Amino acid sequence: MITLAVWKFASCDGCQLSLLDCEDELLAVAGQVRIAHFLEASREVLPGPYDVSLVEGSITTAADAERIRAIRDASRVLVTLGACANAGGIQALRNSADVAEYASAVYARPDYLDTLATSTPIAAHVDVDYELHGCPIDKGQLLETITALLAGRKPNLPAHSVCFD
Ligand code: SF4
Repeated sequence: MITLAVWKFASCDGCQLSLLDCEDELLAVAGQVRIAHFLEASREVLPGPYDVSLVEGSITTAADAERIRAIRDASRVLVTLGACANAGGIQALRNSADVAEYASAVYARPDYLDTLATSTPIAAHVDVDYELHGCPIDKGQLLETITALLAGRKPNLPAHSVCFD
């Protein structure tokens, strides 16, 4: 039995939907996986530590930067999901712009915003064990990763999906 946690940062939820789309396949291994944290699917939240954390989204606030460090500390294996988590996502377009200028053009009260000037990938903040690429991620790669970790082996992923740092 492994404990699995799913975490969301700045993202559209599409990669988490890919996980929900694996419902039939996950039911087959339901007895081996305990979902400890997956707010998109369940309100039940179990405390860590977690065997595997799946992380969607990029880091865009100071609070998120602190949260991902706590998740890393509580996770044996950390897997990032998709372009947001691995490269900053579409929200990283602001990295080469003036965020204050953007905010004042879009929001009536930009002073209510609490945001960093950049959107950065998870690996810029903590060590990442495996990266699943795509927007959204490939369902087959996700299932391979979960079944491999259940079996205690390395996932068989395309070379660009494995972080060796
Ligand atoms: Fe959505 Fe794409 Fe980001 Fe996944 S990588 S959360 S599908 S925008």
